[in-house]
Amino acid sequence: MKLSSATGGVEATNIMAIMAITETKRFEVRAIENGTVIDHIAPDALFKIIRILGLERDTHRITFGLNLESGRMGKKAIIKINDRYCEQEEINRISIFSPNAVVNIIRDFQVVEKLHVAPPDHIEGFVRCINPTCITNNQPVRTSFEVNGGSGELSLRCRYCEKITPCGQIELR
Ligand SMILES: [Zn+2]
Repeated sequence: MKLSSATGGVEATNIMAIMAITETKRFEVRAIENGTVIDHIAPDALFKIIRILGLERDTHRITFGLNLESGRMGKKAIIKINDRYCEQEEINRISIFSPNAVVNIIRDFQVVEKLHVAPPDHIEGFVRCINPTCITNNQPVRTSFEVNGGSGELSLRCRYCEKITPCGQIELR
């Protein structure tokens, strides 16, 4: 290999690339001392979960990763929340958007509990009815749904207009 200023430039670029990879690895494995790690989140559900957990307004230290490699899922997202333990009700809301998510409760850097999310029987308030003429889309009425399908595709049945909102079309209010 010839030593020239051009080669030096290429090497510097490579070093920067290696540094970037190292940073990513460190971020992926970085442990938290106490708190909640939500793992195996479907990538397209990440920002919805951030919203339903109210993390935009949360003052705890929060880190998240998107499109991380996952053997099981191909790509996944992860959220780490320092010093906050999520309520079971919040955890169940996650299942509406990411049924395979796993919630790890961390104390002293150890996973003390691993919770699989489970769909609740009904949900209120945080998602929209698919029917544009539904009263909940036209009056200040809180939405309310029965959750259908424990084993198959999840869907929501509106308690007001009875329209079914299928899994892929569930939107936050
Ligand atoms: Zn409705």
